[in-house]
Amino acid sequence: MRQKIVAGNWKMNNDKNQTEVLISGIKEEIKDLSLDNTRVIISPSFINLESAVKSTEGSSIEVVAQNMHQAKSGAYTGEVSADMLKSIGIKTVILGHSERRTYFGETDEILAEKVNAVLENDLETIFCFGELLEDRKSDNHFNVVESQLKNALFHLEAKDWASIVLAYEPVWAIGTGETASAEQAQEMHAFIRSIVADKYNAEVAEAVSILYGGSVKPANAEEIFSKPDVDGGLIGGAALKASDFSAIIKAI
Ligand code: 13P
Repeated sequence: MRQKIVAGNWKMNNDKNQTEVLISGIKEEIKDLSLDNTRVIISPSFINLESAVKSTEGSSIEVVAQNMHQAKSGAYTGEVSADMLKSIGIKTVILGHSERRTYFGETDEILAEKVNAVLENDLETIFCFGELLEDRKSDNHFNVVESQLKNALFHLEAKDWASIVLAYEPVWAIGTGETASAEQAQEMHAFIRSIVADKYNAEVAEAVSILYGGSVKPANAEEIFSKPDVDGGLIGGAALKASDFSAIIKAI
């Protein structure tokens, strides 16, 4: 049975103290929940990852990184390697977020290298992708998503998919307050599962968790999560408030 996941991408928010306060708040809110087959993930900034790992020890919250460089080490000023992340207990890395693609020039080709580095290091990735508004308006969204997956992931072997979580994030729904409807999310997630099945097999397609991201909030989470191919969410703004994030966890 594939896993359900609610993941909070904190982006460039929260200093050290705010990180601790938010973690305490989430721990308190979810302490009595039974989280059968459901993972709760938070992704603070690099600088607060180690303290977050320590303060979530013994809880059901996993801490993941928002990015990682593909090289093992070397002259890459400002970058963070797999070894560095592993040395503080990080097991999962978000890759391919639209903000990384748009503001930091991460192409499908670079992302394929990053995915390879994740696998070589026995890490897991939450791999993000999704179309722009103009792609959807021109009815090109399925093609865009298919090419993003093909270019960055379809060189992998079937066994590698045990380390892949997919996160469909239509760019027009990120931070805009506009969500894909539950039907639009389901339609795309079913399409994604079908192309994974065509490339690999039904087993791989059925096992991969596909998260939806883009303005998920307590008010819409339950409906989006009720769809059969939506296995959870990657949450931005609403992950920054313990009460909202935990309401979204409860919705799953
Ligand atoms: P919002 O939930 O703020 O729209 O952000 C979604 C996102 O980018 C998660 O990675």
